[in-house]
Amino acid sequence: MSANWIPYGRQDIDGNDIEAVVEVLTSDFLTQGPVVPRFEEALAAYCGVEHAVAANSATSALHMACLALGVGPGDRVWTSPVTFVASANCALYCGAEVDFVDIDPQTCNLSVIALEEKLRHARAGNCLPKVVIPVHLAGQSCDMQAIARLAEEFGFAVIEDAAHAIGGRYHQRPVGDCRYSDITVFSFHPVKIITTAEGGVATTMKAELAERMRDLRSHGITRDRGRLLQDDGPWYYEQQSLGFNYRMTEIQAALGLSQMTRLDSFVERRSELARQYDRLLDGMPLMRQEEHPHSDSSWHLYIVRLAASAADAGRHRQVFDALRHAGIGVNLHYIPVHLQPYYRGLGFRQGDFPHAEDYYRRAISLPLYPGLTQSQQDHVVASLGRALAP
Ligand SMILES: *Cc1c(COP(=O)(O)O)cnc(C)c1O
Repeated sequence: MSANWIPYGRQDIDGNDIEAVVEVLTSDFLTQGPVVPRFEEALAAYCGVEHAVAANSATSALHMACLALGVGPGDRVWTSPVTFVASANCALYCGAEVDFVDIDPQTCNLSVIALEEKLRHARAGNCLPKVVIPVHLAGQSCDMQAIARLAEEFGFAVIEDAAHAIGGRYHQRPVGDCRYSDITVFSFHPVKIITTAEGGVATTMKAELAERMRDLRSHGITRDRGRLLQDDGPWYYEQQSLGFNYRMTEIQAALGLSQMTRLDSFVERRSELARQYDRLLDGMPLMRQEEHPHSDSSWHLYIVRLAASAADAGRHRQVFDALRHAGIGVNLHYIPVHLQPYYRGLGFRQGDFPHAEDYYRRAISLPLYPGLTQSQQDHVVASLGRALAP
């Protein structure tokens, strides 16, 4: 990566982050020590939720979340096609079947209208989903009140894939409070809002779900004396379910704890840059994600779509090439999951989710991260303007 390359996203690491990591490295515990629980407590307090279960990635957290909700062979899990593959793969890991609900072309989140229609069909066909995983694309919460109403009516559980959305709000409350879901999952990959290098967390209000996820995170083993079937002595533990090693290290948690002290300022800076993009791009043949009136985005991504008039075949690619040539690491979030070769192998086809596919032909993620400078942003805007000039 050249010095002048502007990526679409990147971490912000300061001296305190480095000090926090070094402190753990010289302490007694590199894993299974006191810092992970402290990070979990800080996350739970920030989100206004009872339980936070940290994991070595959001992908692991999604997998644990599905298992904790009892997802298994014969079950169905639905999510948005415009997401990272992990939102769907987590259900396949459990042996369940995955299906998708097309997006709302305005917000680019899973369409509640399409969801309701698909649920009515599914009820008639006796094939309702066990879990629906709405994804808060770019950090903007889905319409969780409406989704929760449908969850009640049709009897499914809800996992919010909030990988993009820590620091975001919905109806003035933090995303992750699980007011409208069973479990919420955040990611701490370096391009996300705060980072632990690799890492994720699942939040929930339900003690039994948190307990199941904690067991699953560590091989399905419990050392909780009150839950043991027998007790042979102080060395004794029991594997009561089939779990994994999905633990977060102390090093990661220390970085996460330190990053959390700047979480609000990161989101504020991202939001400022986004508002600035809004102004600077005004008048270009572009569409933005429409903002849900009750969502305050964490602004993980700034996504534009070429307006229909500017989106003839080849144009999208030309704009990408021109921007990359100018040293700008524009990206595309996301290739619709159902069009991935693996998912085509499961029977999905082009044409299954037309709004998601139309989105894919036009979407571009522009650079957005706290360290993006004004002159870099100006360079992005000027290069985009040139690429779009008729
Ligand atoms: C990044 C991401 C994930 C996976 O996060 P990891 O921490 O990398 O496992 C899941 N869902 C979405 C929407 C993501 O963007």
